[in-house]
Amino acid sequence: MDIKKENPVYSRTASEKVVLPEEQWKEILSPEVYHIARQKGTERQWTSKFETSKEIGTYYCAVCGNSLFKSDTKFESGCGWPSFYEPISKASIIYTPDNAHGMNRTEVQCGRCKSHLGHVFEDGPPPTGLRYCINGVVLDFDKAAEAEKRYDEMNGKE
Ligand SMILES: [Zn+2]
Repeated sequence: MDIKKENPVYSRTASEKVVLPEEQWKEILSPEVYHIARQKGTERQWTSKFETSKEIGTYYCAVCGNSLFKSDTKFESGCGWPSFYEPISKASIIYTPDNAHGMNRTEVQCGRCKSHLGHVFEDGPPPTGLRYCINGVVLDFDKAAEAEKRYDEMNGKE
């Protein structure tokens, strides 16, 4: 995507924390991503192409490239947003209590750039029982090339 060329903090390998002033985020990110990631917005239900995606690969933070979720922990929750039951590592996610809108929820933020990703609820499937309900706008997906090949073979494609 073009925005990444102008996004100096985007990296799939760096692990140091990213802290930028809001004005700079505004310059780097598209208005849509900025609204969700930095202003804690919520994308409309059922609008993310990732919501029903079954492609095999890894989901990264669209803001900074931090690895967040593997496709094998993704499940169909029916809630209208991409849902996962487990992050890739402890460095993937930061948890913050969110009492906005009169609800007691736990907000999930990117462990590297503290962008708002979504919320986590305790009604997910085993083994964790958790449902990470994530805005697709702030996810960046990379297909696993090998996994894709196996999938194609299973489905009779060369
Ligand atoms: Zn991030």
